[in-house]
Amino acid sequence: MAEKRDYYEVLGVDKNASADEIKKAYRKLAKKYHPDLNPDDKEGAEAKFKEATEAYEVLSNPEKKSKYDQFGHAAFDQTAGGGYGGGYGGGFDGFDMGDIFSSFFGGGFGGAQRQNPNAPRRGRDIAYNIDMSFEEACFGTEREITINHLEKCEECNGSGAAKGSSPTTCPTCHGTGQVRTVQRTPLGNFQSVHTCDSCGGKGTIIKDPCKNCGGKGTVRRGKKVRVKIPAGIDNGQQVFVRGEGDAGANGGANGDLILNVRVRSHKLFVRQGYDILCEYPISFVQATLGAEVQVPTIDGKVSYTIPEGTQDGTVFRLKGKGIQKINSTQRGDQYVTIKIEIPKGLTESQKEILRNFDNSVEPGKYKKRKSFFDKMKDLLK
Ligand SMILES: [Zn+2]
Ligand SMILES: [Zn+2]
Repeated sequence: MAEKRDYYEVLGVDKNASADEIKKAYRKLAKKYHPDLNPDDKEGAEAKFKEATEAYEVLSNPEKKSKYDQFGHAAFDQTAGGGYGGGYGGGFDGFDMGDIFSSFFGGGFGGAQRQNPNAPRRGRDIAYNIDMSFEEACFGTEREITINHLEKCEECNGSGAAKGSSPTTCPTCHGTGQVRTVQRTPLGNFQSVHTCDSCGGKGTIIKDPCKNCGGKGTVRRGKKVRVKIPAGIDNGQQVFVRGEGDAGANGGANGDLILNVRVRSHKLFVRQGYDILCEYPISFVQATLGAEVQVPTIDGKVSYTIPEGTQDGTVFRLKGKGIQKINSTQRGDQYVTIKIEIPKGLTESQKEILRNFDNSVEPGKYKKRKSFFDKMKDLLK
């Protein structure tokens, strides 16, 4: 048996940690390492889970804690902590497992019985990040990607046993998958039921493992998958490709391939829901006289007539020039905000033209200015 780790170290708390901090630390670890939540590494998780439970069992009990603080592990029989039952069902010696677990298992701890290792288990979902341009997201795209997932071993059809052989009844547990032990400790005798180490609780063992998968029943393989991204997808959304995740176990369904969509930003357009926003700069002369302009859209350029006397910040709408709604034929709109740009660095003759022009314009042509100065006059009378 490997040397026992310090209980404080196991829980990752300070020697002066409060009861509450200890409880919190254990809760976190228990959740992280609960074997039912770690289907891929049940053994590893279970060992960590037991270790944390043992540490908590001592440090949460003031009497045991003070003994431990004085004498360390020597205060207890080395197997005392092993009273934790493999079935996770048994509370022991004033240690209320239900208290710890009710918060995240939605009910008594008894409800979290160990999963039958022979029950069908769905395979894990696998994630894949997929980057695309703004336009690809607008119109949809197709990609061939290479994913790496677990597939059922063809050689043994998932059984893990070599061709021509099959798994046999485990001699340690006689097929039950569990072993019962009684432990004598200074705190009393504990009977506990553990998962059979020989077969991992399956009740069967494979004497002659399949060469192709090493007895696991699955093999990791790269696979090219053609994926379709629907038009209208947005940054941060996901696309599910059913059944392309890891293979299930014991006849369980395969997991899914989950595509995390990331859309690169566009140089001119900003997306807002299914609408597209953009700014369009025009000269003050165009704004004054009106102009026929070419506005960019995701479908290409579109002609638009800017009316005479258009003010800065005016927004016009190009109906149906937005993004296609997912699973629909409707499209959003494009909103174009007019930005009037004032030229700089004009020549003297150009300035002269403008001065002459300005002198020729009656104040009434500037509605806002006229109203402003009228009000100002009233105020300063
Ligand atoms: Zn067994
Ligand atoms: Zn195999």
